[in-house]
Amino acid sequence: MLRVPERTCVCCRKKSAKDRLLRVVVPEDAPIFDKVQRMPGRGFYLCPDDKCIEKFVDEKKINKILKRKITVLSALRELLKTEVEASCTQNKKG
Ligand SMILES: [Zn+2]
Repeated sequence: MLRVPERTCVCCRKKSAKDRLLRVVVPEDAPIFDKVQRMPGRGFYLCPDDKCIEKFVDEKKINKILKRKITVLSALRELLKTEVEASCTQNKKG
């Protein structure tokens, strides 16, 4: 059986299978949602959960996690929420 590696959510510290979490990479000043989880660089994982997304896109929180100033958070928040909603809809159908 194939074992999916586990990752820890940066917000709530809960462990989940990597492919059930959302991955975000921050190559420059702008965070990027890494949908396929293959982008190079250090990734941050978070639960597909509104609470964790809100925590992650909180400016103080994300600056502390990344140890630098990140600004374009509203775009990331929209992206993550859209993704979560999309996967919820898929699950209901499937
Ligand atoms: Zn979480």
